[in-house]
Amino acid sequence: MTIHTTKMLILGSGPAGLSAAIYGARAGLEPIVVQGIQPGGQLMTTTDVENYPGFREVIQGPWLMGEMQAQAEHVGTRMMWDTVVKVDLTRRPFRLYGDGGDVYEGDVLVIATGAQAKWLGLDSEELLKGKGVSACATCDGFFYRGKKVAVIGGGNTAVEEALYLTNHSDDVTLIHRRDTLRAERILQQRLFASEKISTLWNKEVHRFLGGGTPEGLVGIELKDTVTGELSTLEVDGGFVAIGHHPATELFRGHLKLDEDGYIAVETGSTRTSVAGVFACGDVMDKVYRQAVTAAGTGCMAALDAERFLQAEEFAEVAEAAE
Ligand SMILES: Cc1cc2nc3c(=O)[nH]c(=O)nc-3n(C[C@H](O)[C@H](O)[C@H](O)COP(=O)(O)OP(=O)(O)OC[C@H]3O[C@@H](n4cnc5c(N)ncnc54)[C@H](O)[C@@H]3O)c2cc1C
Repeated sequence: MTIHTTKMLILGSGPAGLSAAIYGARAGLEPIVVQGIQPGGQLMTTTDVENYPGFREVIQGPWLMGEMQAQAEHVGTRMMWDTVVKVDLTRRPFRLYGDGGDVYEGDVLVIATGAQAKWLGLDSEELLKGKGVSACATCDGFFYRGKKVAVIGGGNTAVEEALYLTNHSDDVTLIHRRDTLRAERILQQRLFASEKISTLWNKEVHRFLGGGTPEGLVGIELKDTVTGELSTLEVDGGFVAIGHHPATELFRGHLKLDEDGYIAVETGSTRTSVAGVFACGDVMDKVYRQAVTAAGTGCMAALDAERFLQAEEFAEVAEAAE
């Protein structure tokens, strides 16, 4: 067993964790980043990124994350390729246990484990992800300007995504497997008031249909949940909007989580319910969920952590001088 120690321990290597690392390293905290099973985070699973500031041309998600990692290492971050399976936040330094037996200790801990979009789990969905099938309208809606799109789901996320897509498309179909929506009333009112959105009730996705060269989504085969009848809807884009899973299982019982399982932080900061533990990115943000907001809160977490350590040091010096 090897014990790796640092002032600032960061869990997760998406935009939030790597931004925290860049700021932490530049503050002299010599951070360690434990990367997890998805080094680089969610953007590694996508191709075109057109909304990350600083790049006029479309860039590729994996390229952006490669650059962020190189920048973090360049300023002094140590990268660890390990997945954490257990945590001890009851005493300091905080301890994280890797699945290979290594232990990571940090005077402060920044959690940036992200949230994964829920998918339907169909083979055709897997095949057409990034080729017309997406789980993020804010990220990919722009690529469907003037095209026909569908949103799958019936909760707040689905209705918000459908409303957002009307910025780009005049032909948005909401597909829901029941005959009523779970979304808040005010969102439903906006949805039904939009002339650009139509709703298909009691329908579930049976299969996403690919076609063309290069292959992309051309339609969705739907199954009626009441009659079992199959039908086809021609669309260019399909947005699965059935919610997200924050990666917080490790922290259940150790940190305060909100009612949806996201890490609870003090408003306007990244401070969690345990002093010295900070959370940033999608794991504490169920509203925006963008690379740039994850990077922004990553920066906040590093600054909050650095100020926390500084305040402690100052208190120790003051006590010694008394
Ligand atoms: C297909 C797709 C396309 C997208 N397109 C865009 C876009 O165009 N523009 C945009 O702004 N946003 C886009 N997003 C959203 C964006 O990717 C996320 O908002 C962002 O990645 C969140 O960053 P994060 O650092 O909080 O978490 P993530 O990127 O989810 O990273 C989480 C990290 O935590 C690590 N981790 C988790 N559990 C453990 C553990 N137990 N031990 C160690 N490590 C762990 C993972 O390995 C990973 O490195 C897209 C998302 C998807 C899925």
